[in-house]
Amino acid sequence: MLNAIPALNDNYIWLYSRDNLSVIVIDIPEISPILSFFEQNPYKITALLLTHNHNDHVAGVAEFKQHFPDVPIIGSSECAYLGLNHEINEGEIVVDDYKIQVIPTGGHTANHVSFVVDGHLFSGDCLFSAGCGRVFTGDYAQMFDSLQRLNALPDNTLVCAGHEYTLSNLAFAETVVSEKSAVQNQRVWVEQLRKQGLSSMPTKLGLEKTINPFLNADNLAEFIRLRQAKDRF
Ligand SMILES: [Zn+2]
Repeated sequence: MLNAIPALNDNYIWLYSRDNLSVIVIDIPEISPILSFFEQNPYKITALLLTHNHNDHVAGVAEFKQHFPDVPIIGSSECAYLGLNHEINEGEIVVDDYKIQVIPTGGHTANHVSFVVDGHLFSGDCLFSAGCGRVFTGDYAQMFDSLQRLNALPDNTLVCAGHEYTLSNLAFAETVVSEKSAVQNQRVWVEQLRKQGLSSMPTKLGLEKTINPFLNADNLAEFIRLRQAKDRF
């Protein structure tokens, strides 16, 4: 199961399980969508993974603990104040039947992390479909390096980002990429999905390489120029 549960305005709470195993939850902007989902679908939860410390990704942690006190919470050092069971900034952690790869992806925040589970990339606010996160408490060089790290994952990796920003990202991408047809085709496809209330993700990393200008920035200077142009877009 792979499920993007909408939360707040444009956040997603991602749920993933292999076969009929228990479910991994990624980020928790608020508790109510999770409670209603697990009331209707009484699966066991394996772990809660946190990508970074912004409120729209962790505001539901305290209530989550009350409802699911035995579920381990995993995140980087910047989320330690939330009372993690496992603090990890890089490497691999095994929980139940899942091997979870933790990739340092700072830039949006200094210790943002992304998670790879069974070929699914949970990229929080680092990599979006057709875009990337703003640089807040990290810096541009860190963000550039983080995107390069994600870019090195296999093309069939499924990208599952923390926000539904795809249409506005595609509108920006269309103004800066030289080969526009892939971006335009994706816009038509995503418009159809969004009209039906469906998520634009997951997308394949191989596709992102054709529509995401931030993954294709050749050097730091070009990345900074793109990121600042998007901030003003
Ligand atoms: Zn954020």
